[in-house]
Parts: sequence; structure tokens; C-alpha cells
Amino acid sequence: MALLSVEDLTVQFYTDRGVLRAVDGLSYEIERGETLGIVGESGAGKTVTSLALLRLLEDGEIVDGSIRFDGQDVLECSPAELRRLRGNRVAMVFQDSQSAFNPVYTVGEQIAEGVRAHEDVSRREARERAIDLLARVDVAAPASRYTDYPHEFSGGMLQRAAIAMALAGDPDLLICDEPTTGIDVTVQAQLLELLAELASEDGLAIQLVTHDLGVVAECCDRVVVLYAGAAVECAPVESLFYEPSHPYTAGLLASIPRLGDDRDRLPQLPGSIPDLVDRPTGCRFHPRCPYAEAICRTREPTLESVDGDDSSGGPGGDRQPAHRAACHAYTGDLEGDLEYEVRVL
Ligand code: SF4
Repeated sequence: MALLSVEDLTVQFYTDRGVLRAVDGLSYEIERGETLGIVGESGAGKTVTSLALLRLLEDGEIVDGSIRFDGQDVLECSPAELRRLRGNRVAMVFQDSQSAFNPVYTVGEQIAEGVRAHEDVSRREARERAIDLLARVDVAAPASRYTDYPHEFSGGMLQRAAIAMALAGDPDLLICDEPTTGIDVTVQAQLLELLAELASEDGLAIQLVTHDLGVVAECCDRVVVLYAGAAVECAPVESLFYEPSHPYTAGLLASIPRLGDDRDRLPQLPGSIPDLVDRPTGCRFHPRCPYAEAICRTREPTLESVDGDDSSGGPGGDRQPAHRAACHAYTGDLEGDLEYEVRVL
């Protein structure tokens, strides 16, 4: 059984202009120890999905679908069950680590408080655990950094401390929302290495939300590509980079600069994500798709296997997880062929 199973998740916001469907029938699973990347442009529904998992949406409403964590129906949890789930089983790390800490308390005290919120331990034990957690996330001289305030940490170090705080409840799933955005490239690489270590050594499952395909390539096992609230491609990371099977993914990959690139200009996807209050009919990507045909404007494609394998798979399974894309090309409904000119990473 998958650790996390999201099925047909649909989230709506109610605006002055009408109903905005931010997440539309999204399904995916995460296995224990697996790192799943959720990738897409701003407004694709990535953060809304993460918040919905823990029922942290302030204005939005989950109007359809199910979320099961380790067999437990999250949408049916009582407030007490939700409190146990948050932090103890599932923890979140956001892009802005400053906001995770109160500036008037030391970083160490706040992590120790996190430990005490989840476990009945003495202050002294909590302090020791907090120092161990700072060491676990590679903060140098953790005992002396314990008494430093958030403003005394660099951006990268504070992000590590935010991860330490998230680990205080010993969760099974860590949701990281754009954890490396705004951090310089070398520190970014160290953070990604840390996340990969947490997954492989501690068996932590990670949902990594990002707009950066380089981050995905670095540490994800599988990827869900979101476009305008729906999954348009789901694949093991290598298949996604070597055989992108949706024009949107292909466009994203083609627009990444590479070493030795001799292109004068990087290709870019025309247009932008559609207005989610007034979404295009048929395939939600058709206004931007260079391969669109008449059927694309009227019928919405569903996720179909692109390699004949229908298993959802996961790490440790005998079969490779299925590579699926939501494009009429995979139901034989397009007249032309999709031939992408994509140079892989
Ligand atoms: Fe493009 Fe049509 Fe495929 Fe949508 S269904 S991605 S418009 S070819």
C-alpha cells in the first residue's frame, strides 16, 4: 500500500469573477522512501495541492476526491487526528524559512519546542534532540548554534534548520515547497544532497514541489507535471527527461539552458497558463500547443500509458512505474505525429 494516495483531488476557490478550480481531478501516490517531484509553472496548483494534503487551505475548498495517508482517510480526520497527522506523520518545509521561525526566540529553542510538541520529554532531552537534529541537517557546531537567533543564520543554514524543525516529530513524509528557491546555487546543491540522504538513509518519503526541472533531475524518483491544475504527465524521472511525452513537458525541457549551448535564443512556450476561472475547453494546453488539432479544442485528454505499462509502480517494485501523459496522441486520435526536438539534460 502506498504511503500517500491522492485520488481525483479537486480544489476550488470562490472569487468575485466566479469559481476558480485550482486543482482538477489530480491523482498520484508516494511510496515510503520515495521522492516525488511535483513540477509546473506558477499557478499550476502545486502549493494548493500540498496545503490540501494537510487540510491547511484557508480559502479553498476540497470539493471532490480522496486523500489517504498510510490507510487513514485524511478528509475524514477529526481535529485531534489531524493534529497528530501534522508534524508527527507529515511535515512541511516552505520556501521562506524565515517565516518558520519566531525572530525573538533562538533557533535551537524553537526546534526543542517542536520536539516537545510531539513527544513527552524533559526540556533537557528536547535540547539534546534539537542539537542532534541540527547535526543531522549538517549545521556546523550545532551545540553553539543552538543559542543563535534566526537572523544570525544564513539563508541556506536557516533552510537546514527549518528541515530540522520539520524532522522534530519524526515524520514519514516531508513536503518541501520550493525549498531551494532564492538560495545560491552551491548551497542549493548541498540542500538537495541532504534531502536525497534523508530519503535514502532515513527512509523518509518526500514530496518536492518545484518549478525547477534541475532540482527534479537532482533528487526525484518520479515526477508529476502539473498544468493548470491537472497532471499532464507522470513518469519516472529518467523517462521524463529522456522521453518527454507531453508537448508541455517537452517545451519546459527545451527551454533549459545547457553547457555548450549553441542556440542564440532559448525556445520558449508561447502564452501563459490559462485563466482558471474560464479554462479553455478540451485539452487545457491547446492554446499553447504547437501540435493542437480540432479534437484538442473539444475533447479533454485523460492520462494514458505511453509505453503500454499500466502499473503505477514505485521504488522497490518489480515493474517500472508507468509513464503516462494526457494527450490525444496516446489514444491514436491525432492525425500528425508528435516529434519533439528536445535535447535531454
Ligand atoms: Fe497538444 Fe492536443 Fe496533445 Fe493537448 S491533446 S497536448 S493540444 S496535441
